[in-house]
Amino acid sequence: MIAWMAILDRLPTKNSLQRMGIISDGLCVLCNDDLETRDHLFIECSLADSLWKAILHLSGLRPSFSSWNNFLASTSHAWKCKSLLITILKLAWCAFLYSLWEERNRRLFKGNSRNEAEILKAIKEIVGIQLRGRNISRLDSVNNTLCKNWSIE
Ligand SMILES: [Zn+2]
Repeated sequence: MIAWMAILDRLPTKNSLQRMGIISDGLCVLCNDDLETRDHLFIECSLADSLWKAILHLSGLRPSFSSWNNFLASTSHAWKCKSLLITILKLAWCAFLYSLWEERNRRLFKGNSRNEAEILKAIKEIVGIQLRGRNISRLDSVNNTLCKNWSIE
């Protein structure tokens, strides 16, 4: 749900609410550094950038997240593949969007916050829960490393 709203750029970001005259401050609550647009929140924001790099690192990949459109274009083809790596990346990407949006709402409406390590832990849990009980071949060294890094039982 969050992923679709994000892809369609329909999330009620502070920047869009500000432009509608609903709020006066459009600043990102994750970094307080720039306007909260979709692209800022999920790509440019220092917290998003750092979290996504951590996700790629856990997956044995190097960072290559240049822009939202490039990312979708480069993944839409690769993501049809059914390997464990692609499955994890899909789950992790949804969990990443969800967790950042949740964190943003937590800071905005509840006045409390989690640090980066805690958010990453939450993302790992979401991914781990969805892969629990799946038949994963550990003879494959890539799969084996992925299971270790992502703490998949
Ligand atoms: Zn930010």
